[in-house]
Amino acid sequence: MATATTSLAPSAWQIGTNDPIGVAQWYLDRYWNRQLPVDPVAIAQAAGVRVFQNPNLAPLSGCFYDEDGPVIEFNGREPLVRQRFTVAHELGHHALGHGPRFRDPSENFSLTAYDSKEVAANQFAAELLMPADVINHLIMKRKITDFDRLAALFNTSGVAMQFRLKNLGWL
Ligand SMILES: [Zn+2]
Repeated sequence: MATATTSLAPSAWQIGTNDPIGVAQWYLDRYWNRQLPVDPVAIAQAAGVRVFQNPNLAPLSGCFYDEDGPVIEFNGREPLVRQRFTVAHELGHHALGHGPRFRDPSENFSLTAYDSKEVAANQFAAELLMPADVINHLIMKRKITDFDRLAALFNTSGVAMQFRLKNLGWL
């Protein structure tokens, strides 16, 4: 029984917020090694989540479930930048206390996702992989404005970085 208790996601009162951005920042503060690109698998594992690459997950990109503790599976046949976003998104479902089971086809990662839990998981993933503080620092202090260089530093797709910079008011 002890394992089930320790594997629970910290609740909103422990983190101090249930805002997806704030929860992602809490995970970064606690579990990130401050290296770029952010490693979502390492963060999930540090938070007590087991993470598996599954080459036979299609048509899903990822899923999250509880089986003697939280588990993330991600589709190992998709591009690496997608795999990274998938793991961060599934960790968001866990961290935000969305429930015991999620199955995510690729459309749930789209900016047109309308389900509020999918939107929140995507917001969590964007902040986890592309922390606003770090992006703002690189642009303002280090004068890195080259789009492809930023995407490469954070190991994200160009599209994901473009939307992130738009959200942060840089584009
Ligand atoms: Zn999802």
